Amino acid sequence: MARAFQIAVFEGDGIGPEIMTPTLHILTQLSTARADYSLDFVTHPAGAAHYSKTGESLPATSLEAAGAADAILLSAMGLPDVRYEDGTEISPQIDLRKAFNLFAGVRPVRVGPGHPTPLKIPEGRAIDFVLIRESTEGLFHTQGRGEVSADEARETLLITRKVSEKLFQFAFQLAQDRKNRGVGQGRVTCVDKANVFRAFAYFRGLFDVEAAKHPGLNADHAYVDATALWMVQKPWDFDVLVTENMFGDILSDLGAGLMGGLGLAPSADIGLNQAVFQPCHGSAPDIAGEGKANPIAMILSAAMMLEWLGTRHDVPAMIEDGQRLRDAVETVLLQSDQLTPDLGGGNTTAGIEQAVLAALYA
Ligand code: ATP
Repeated sequence: MARAFQIAVFEGDGIGPEIMTPTLHILTQLSTARADYSLDFVTHPAGAAHYSKTGESLPATSLEAAGAADAILLSAMGLPDVRYEDGTEISPQIDLRKAFNLFAGVRPVRVGPGHPTPLKIPEGRAIDFVLIRESTEGLFHTQGRGEVSADEARETLLITRKVSEKLFQFAFQLAQDRKNRGVGQGRVTCVDKANVFRAFAYFRGLFDVEAAKHPGLNADHAYVDATALWMVQKPWDFDVLVTENMFGDILSDLGAGLMGGLGLAPSADIGLNQAVFQPCHGSAPDIAGEGKANPIAMILSAAMMLEWLGTRHDVPAMIEDGQRLRDAVETVLLQSDQLTPDLGGGNTTAGIEQAVLAALYA
């Protein structure tokens, strides 16, 4: 009998709804072709446009429904002109991370043959690593609560044992899973600034304790500034990188750049009981409503959702479909005439949906 999953959908702002539409069409096609699982999508209000209308960015009913769902699919959110009174942007995605303790921000950086990467990849090398960004504390701890006076401003960075232990367990488990699948060398790198800040020396110390429990995996450390350099000079050396919230925020955009642009970078924020899947990019208000937004990052985030649900609930067909979807996107990326304007082509958002479906059912 088909295993039924309820997916809480947040369509987002700007290009958010435009890139969610093809994603839901593709997921529906994939799941209806399977006897093993079904997906039921329920859309909930949240975001900057909703805040403008109602004064609420993430209604309690939406939060509750998201918590009760099997997974959360979230499109780009926020609008530069819509802000809270303190000047910060509307970001329900950050509220969800905190509400459900989604400590592991998973940002895969994979460069396939069709990716317009700015790097020249040497023969025999491949860029395929995962950046894990802690997503509930770090320098985001006082987000919206920083102290600002006429003469100074302060934010507090928080590293806790509880969250760091879960984070490092997750990182080593991921490295082990990748190694088992024949991807990566089974290595976890702790990215920090332990030479300057005591909080990062503490972070590193907790990492080393977890590393000692995994003698079959390699563990090492790198400073965040050196990591930025190496992500450009030798990204093929990385396997799993794990880091603090703000460092991860910055490095994940660098990772998106390596892949050829924000429109190609998926992400997942994963906790012990819930997960949110969303593209790395923002709501791109400059191109909203024009039908030319690239939906690939959203589609690849949906592929991550299928794999997460399939692994968690032991439904191999979902893991297979996640991989098939990724392969279909790779096929589309090899056809330069099929790409949206951000990647130098002339295709539309709806055209990408057709191209992905054609590649899936070729
Ligand atoms: P945020 O701070 O919310 O992440 P941002 O300020 O980084 O947002 P984005 O909204 O991500 O900005 O947009 C940055 C640039 O990338 C814009 O020019 C936008 O049009 C472009 N862009 C982002 N996502 C896409 C996409 N999916 N398709 C096409 N262009 C995109």
